Amino acid sequence: MTEETTGPIPFWKAKRLDELDDREWEALCDRCGRCCLNKLEDEETGEIYWTNVACRLLDPTTCRCSSYENRHDFVPDCVRLDVEEVVSQTYTWLPPTCAYRLLARGEDLRWWHPLVSGDPDTVHAAGISVRNRVISDENIPADGYEDHLVDWPGEDPDLRPPPREGKKR
Ligand code: SF4
Ligand code: SF4
Repeated sequence: MTEETTGPIPFWKAKRLDELDDREWEALCDRCGRCCLNKLEDEETGEIYWTNVACRLLDPTTCRCSSYENRHDFVPDCVRLDVEEVVSQTYTWLPPTCAYRLLARGEDLRWWHPLVSGDPDTVHAAGISVRNRVISDENIPADGYEDHLVDWPGEDPDLRPPPREGKKR
């Protein structure tokens, strides 16, 4: 069965990334919080190494920025995603599960994305978000990040949606 036969095409399929309005652009974020983890970069190779050390403004339970509107007052180097950079895939530090990166690669959103599931908790239930598995960079000195290297933020697990419950007779 195709999208066309089940209803209108969702906006992220009907439009290019550079055609989205502000509300649609913001809605694309699945609130996984992975991009708010501190990363180390090999200066020679450009390779990104992930840590489980989160930005001090990240709420580890909701995985949302605790001061999104004013975040640059506290974290001046927080990157505001630029659509052209997303489209050209120059943000190599975005996790492979990031909705913006998936669409820029020509892929679809995953079943656990809140826009697909209709449930803001599926990104957590599926284990995609950083919920309760990070520590704040307030507690880690900058030269201590190497002790907190982890692989999972850079991984894209091939998760299957949970089976639907059958109808009761
Ligand atoms: S990685 Fe992408 S989808 Fe996840 S919180 Fe960051 S911008 Fe949003
Ligand atoms: S300031 Fe907010 S949006 Fe930026 S990295 Fe920190 S928690 Fe994430």
